[in-house]
Amino acid sequence: MSLIQHRIGGAEAGGGGTAPLHDPATGERTGEVLLGRAAEVDAAVGAAARAFQTWQDVSQARRARIMFAFRDLLERHEDELARLITAEHGKVLDDARGEIVRGREVVEFACGIPSALKGEYSDQVSSGIDAFSFRQPLGVCAGIVPFNFPVMVPLWMHPIAIATGNTFVLKPSERVPSASALIADLYAEAGLPDGVFNVLNGDRETADALIRHPDVAAVSFVGSTPVARHVHETATASGKRVQALGGAKNHAVVLPDADLDHAADQITAAAYGSAGQRCMAISVVVAVGEAADPLVARLADRARAIKVGPGTEPGTEMGPLISADALRRVTGHVDAAAAAGAKVVVDGRGLAGPGHFLGPCLLDEVATDLPAYAEEIFGPVLIVLRAGSLDEAIALVNANPHGNGTAIFTSSGEAARRYQRAVHVGMVGVNVPIPVPMAFYSFGGWKASLFGDTHVHGPEGVRFYTRAKAVTSRWPEPQTASTAGEMAFPTAT
Ligand code: NAD
Repeated sequence: MSLIQHRIGGAEAGGGGTAPLHDPATGERTGEVLLGRAAEVDAAVGAAARAFQTWQDVSQARRARIMFAFRDLLERHEDELARLITAEHGKVLDDARGEIVRGREVVEFACGIPSALKGEYSDQVSSGIDAFSFRQPLGVCAGIVPFNFPVMVPLWMHPIAIATGNTFVLKPSERVPSASALIADLYAEAGLPDGVFNVLNGDRETADALIRHPDVAAVSFVGSTPVARHVHETATASGKRVQALGGAKNHAVVLPDADLDHAADQITAAAYGSAGQRCMAISVVVAVGEAADPLVARLADRARAIKVGPGTEPGTEMGPLISADALRRVTGHVDAAAAAGAKVVVDGRGLAGPGHFLGPCLLDEVATDLPAYAEEIFGPVLIVLRAGSLDEAIALVNANPHGNGTAIFTSSGEAARRYQRAVHVGMVGVNVPIPVPMAFYSFGGWKASLFGDTHVHGPEGVRFYTRAKAVTSRWPEPQTASTAGEMAFPTAT
């Protein structure tokens, strides 16, 4: 059985408690992971702080070259990384490869960091005076990440932080730590100096100590809404910069003029891919007017056809849930909704074990005050709501406390434009069910899906990991310039 260690200052490090690791497809225990405590948190932050002293002065060109090498290594090790993801998370191998590719795109953005860091320059803002601004790194940045994207979500953070001159301490989810150890190896092979990227394994106690550590300058968090709120409050209380992305309840609005076969195909993939354990999964369909009955029939046909099984088995389309607890919680939502009068159109409950498997579930006629609608389920459960008009659908989506992603299916450009402007959601798809922005845009939700001001990666990521400096500069020519200072507040001459 493996024991997953920390990576601190370029070397494996022990210390702290331990937690078991499981294969969700069998329920079997496969190894253990260390849980860092105060001493390990100190060691990781200390290593990152020491590395920052030199890394901040490494040229942009060299930082970019390391990112190019890291990007190639990620591609070469894609299969190995995908297998580590599937072994601990359970998602199918193709899905694991997909998250690696999307994460790698952030590294590709970071390869162009010199362009993203270009400052501004104004010549002769006053007589003999120029003004310019540029951005500098913050110091030690921490990343605390969820179980559902063991590679992609951390890659939203550390390539940008590191390329902009910061050093980084990553705390992976204690349920899926193995891929991060390989990522640390790949950075080292790419030529990243020791201590610039550190992996501190652990749980909530580790995360809390990291957030509160006085030498951590900034915290990036992705996870559930209650924890995101807590991380945001805790980190801002100690004066740190923080971006905390939370949970989601993503609605797809389907208008009667949509191509219903296309909509059903896309929504099925977005609802049940990765067993619904994606922050951008579609978990609610809002069927408008006469779209409802034919759409439900199509969704039901497609949900019943999904092949459920271990993520490593060829042909499998949907793997297990992450844990026995998750299986109980998600099944409990379906049980409670059914007991309260919802119609279970497709029932994925009762699959034979071993492993934490739940088949696709499709619920119709769900009251919006039921926990199945009011809470994030984070499993393969799709709820259908019905609305009389586009305006009613928009009001429904906007009344939801979450605002991560949404999609509209329609053949009307006017309706799509009205929706994209009116909806209180951070990422909108038009006939695209999972509108995860490309790496050169930024990713983030609204309302209870994001605490903080900046989204992750892309231009907002660069801004988050750097701070601006404005310089006003005079190089007097001795013969002509007046050297006398002015006591009055200086104005341009
Ligand atoms: P989680 O909130 O339980 O855990 C996330 C991370 O926080 C883990 O590293 C965990 O160890 C740590 N943690 C847990 N409790 C903590 C506490 N009290 N204090 C400090 N740290 C704590 O989330 P999860 O179950 O791993 O992941 C699923 C959740 O993540 C879902 O809600 C999903 O929507 C969300 N998510 C959001 C996005 C997004 O972009 N908005 C992306 C992926 C996942």
